[in-house]
Amino acid sequence: MNTRPPRLAKTLATAAADYQTTAVIPHCRVCSKPCCKLDTLVLELEWPQVKGLWLLAESRNAFDKRLASGRGPIEIRPANGLYYAHSRPCPAYDQAGGGCRVYDQPLKPVGCSDFPVYEDQGQITADLRCEAVDLDALKARLTQALGPGSRITRSADRDFPFLVTLSVKR
Ligand code: SF4
Ligand code: SF4
Repeated sequence: MNTRPPRLAKTLATAAADYQTTAVIPHCRVCSKPCCKLDTLVLELEWPQVKGLWLLAESRNAFDKRLASGRGPIEIRPANGLYYAHSRPCPAYDQAGGGCRVYDQPLKPVGCSDFPVYEDQGQITADLRCEAVDLDALKARLTQALGPGSRITRSADRDFPFLVTLSVKR
């Protein structure tokens, strides 16, 4: 259960969004390993996003059958009512310009907006697979947003050490 005060979560979420806007997104156009190529990241998708991004005209049922028969896009795997794309660039990725063609649209998966820094239950998760993430700079940004009396500690996920959690100690 989340016992963190909502105000802390809100402050962290705002600081994370600000970090994305000012430190991460400006780097995307010159990134040496763009996440949208999906060579390391896996994109989690709802059916409407698959249909819209891959420009499918068929029904979901027909698409699922196509996937099951091995005639679907090889980069998409279905699981638990969702779809996972990996190993080929996202169809919305503008490889020439390095941008996202659905940046401000509902088609954009939630995971894209959360990557590489997001607030979850009063903590910040940073994904070091993004070369634009600088943990020291992010910590400094969070400390500034939280004000005096706050200390930030960091810990890496045991199984996925590129995922780092920043926690607030008062
Ligand atoms: S990995 Fe980071 S810097 Fe590179 S394209 Fe993705 S969000 Fe932008
Ligand atoms: S939807 Fe946009 S941000 Fe998300 S992987 Fe595709 S191109 Fe990248």
